[in-house]
Amino acid sequence: MDLGIARRRAAVAAASRGLGFGVAAALVAEGAQVAMCGRNRDTIEDAARRVGHDAVPLVADVSTPTAAAAFVTAAHDALGGVDILVTNAGGPPPGTFATTELEQYVAAIELNCLSVIAMCDAAVPAMQAQRWGRVVAITSIAVRQPIAELILSNTARAGVTGFLKTLAREVAGDGVTVNSLQPGLHDTERIRELHGGGPAATAATVPAGTLGRAEDFGAFAAFLCSEHARYVTGTAIPVDGGAYGGLL
Ligand code: NAD
Repeated sequence: MDLGIARRRAAVAAASRGLGFGVAAALVAEGAQVAMCGRNRDTIEDAARRVGHDAVPLVADVSTPTAAAAFVTAAHDALGGVDILVTNAGGPPPGTFATTELEQYVAAIELNCLSVIAMCDAAVPAMQAQRWGRVVAITSIAVRQPIAELILSNTARAGVTGFLKTLAREVAGDGVTVNSLQPGLHDTERIRELHGGGPAATAATVPAGTLGRAEDFGAFAAFLCSEHARYVTGTAIPVDGGAYGGLL
């Protein structure tokens, strides 16, 4: 299926590896022009080379709203505009109520909530003006079902989901869609770091019997960015191999 996004200009945050890289690669495969960021120059340049199709590597740390907005501005300058915004960042450190200090919440909310808002602030008004835009935010299945010992992620991602839903309804009439994807367990460095038992042991907890693959996640994200998905907005979609057990 032709997704109809050839030559659309996409800014993909935190894309040197993992899910962000998977989304950047999938958009490039559809002919989009991609600017992608990471914190380390060598790593993001290598990732952009592997993605191919003249993907633009940008060095940016999106852990603060100011730097996150600057990434979108740099992507805009490099591509001549931003039609598609994919927000992403690393996850905050693990911890429980008992082990987590108040200031750690501030950092986590900056990383996984305020930075997303800042990227939307930088990208969405121009999308509204041109009456076409796509925002896809990578959050977590923790929004539906908080994950034990990830209290920072559970807290920040719930907040950003409220923001995204509100934004989606405000800009839907301008041809801009806003959706989030909620990864469950995908075979990335983050999951290997968090789950000491190794990929096989972790996969046994998923009904699908396997961990997700970044390339599949990317393909689904690319569909949400497509022409065909123009009527899908305000959703928060689990991509988790059936792990989430709730009805809604
Ligand atoms: P990952 O750690 O494998 O990759 C994250 C990428 O983002 C890396 O390239 C890293 O260098 C980059 N990055 C991290 N912090 C950054 C920053 N401040 N600025 C710029 N780049 C930064 O992680 P992943 O598994 O791909 O996960 C992506 C997001 O999805 C994370 O927020 C993670 O918590 C969340 N998530 C992932 C899973 C999963 O199954 N992999 C599940 C739930 C939530």
